[in-house]
Amino acid sequence: MTKRNYATVNPCVMCQPMGSALAFKGIENTMVLYHGSQGCSTYMRLHLAHHFREPVDIASSSLSEKGAVYGGRENLKKGLRNVINRYNPKVIGVATTCLAETIGDDVPAIIREFKEEEGIGDDLEKDIIIVPVSTPSYGESHVSGYIKALDAIVRTFAEKTGDESAEKVPNEKLNVIPVESLSPADVRELKEVFELMAGDYIFLPDISETFDAPLREDLPKIAQGGTPLFEIADMPNSQASLGLGTVSKNLAVNYLEESHDVPGYSVPIPIGLSNTDSFFTELVKILGCPIPVKYLQERGRLLDAMVDVHKYLYGVKAAIYGDPDFVFSLTTFMLELGMNPVLVATGSKSRDFEAKVRQIVEKINPEFEPVVLNGIDFDTLNDAVSQCNPEILIGNSNGRYIAKARNIPLVRVGLPIHDRVGAQRILTVGYRGAMEFLDRITNAILEATDTFTAPVQAEPTVHAGKGKEECVEGIR
Ligand code: SF4
Repeated sequence: MTKRNYATVNPCVMCQPMGSALAFKGIENTMVLYHGSQGCSTYMRLHLAHHFREPVDIASSSLSEKGAVYGGRENLKKGLRNVINRYNPKVIGVATTCLAETIGDDVPAIIREFKEEEGIGDDLEKDIIIVPVSTPSYGESHVSGYIKALDAIVRTFAEKTGDESAEKVPNEKLNVIPVESLSPADVRELKEVFELMAGDYIFLPDISETFDAPLREDLPKIAQGGTPLFEIADMPNSQASLGLGTVSKNLAVNYLEESHDVPGYSVPIPIGLSNTDSFFTELVKILGCPIPVKYLQERGRLLDAMVDVHKYLYGVKAAIYGDPDFVFSLTTFMLELGMNPVLVATGSKSRDFEAKVRQIVEKINPEFEPVVLNGIDFDTLNDAVSQCNPEILIGNSNGRYIAKARNIPLVRVGLPIHDRVGAQRILTVGYRGAMEFLDRITNAILEATDTFTAPVQAEPTVHAGKGKEECVEGIR
């Protein structure tokens, strides 16, 4: 129904190495180095700093024309040396950009060489761990970069601690690994659930502090917080792994299951009523403990809020775009609210996205037929919006030009959000997140349509240039 471009016009995704930074930045004492040209790291540092409103350091091997012709071996080694001298990290995540991949540098081999030259061993306690991940941006998006980096981190740590002949020492912990980057507020909310229900858990990656740190005078070179390294090393001993997201494949969860016999479970990102219900149901199944009363109360309040706003949201046509799993969970919630998500789109090339979205539509509102688009750019999204005529847009801030041109509200959610503050504090997960999101959508609709139906109040006279006495009279 919509035209598809032969070239990308305003991408609806970000670079693959950017996704790797979102993952690496959630690991304790970790620095990121991009092997490629300087512009890549500048663009991604700015992008992340504008979104999270935090300083974001990302080093670069700064390949120039010479490196592009003769290979980037020396640049990468020099970059690693600089990072070690300036930041003194415990882990360095090395992600490739388009240029390094195009010239075909063998990054794992260069890292092996560098470690030999510098006398860096494989001891988790004493040595610096260097984790390479291949993230050419012309292949995929920040979503796959995030998933690949988490997989590389888990594999590197598991292989360093794994002694095939040694007995596994079960730790009774629960591994939790999302397939897409959540906000620091979301991570904090989920950690609270696991603290109450699981006791011992390992959340990977934990950006709750690293991307939302308290202000301090002695700013550390590497933000404090992140998943502790000894916890990552302990993941193969956990009782189970819970993946958050069911559209994209969770490589780290699969690896732990296949190579270390850690049973893997997956639920949708817990946004909205039924997705949060599934999340708690799965936790009860895995951990065998009841749902704390606090969350049952929150669920009841969410239901109450849904009833309250039903008259404003029923039948409202929405367009939702962003990362595949996030969009899937949001779409489920929109359907639960009685809204019509007429256009559901992701910029990532996701094999299962359309089928998953159609399945959930079939389950909740079988009469309804949304347009579902996969791997699109903003130009295609703009055309689709013209055809589907939504009354509200839900997605990241890059859709603001479409919303402005059509004079419809945009509820900002996901990444990036550059034109508003507070992205790090946006809560969408859990019953509480659903309530907050519900309020934001409803208020945006009310603001745009003026359909508020409370008892009518007269215009206050105080603004009409009346005298002081008349105003006082009016207040009485
Ligand atoms: S598309 Fe490639 S070259 Fe451009 S910023 Fe991203 S990684 Fe760098």
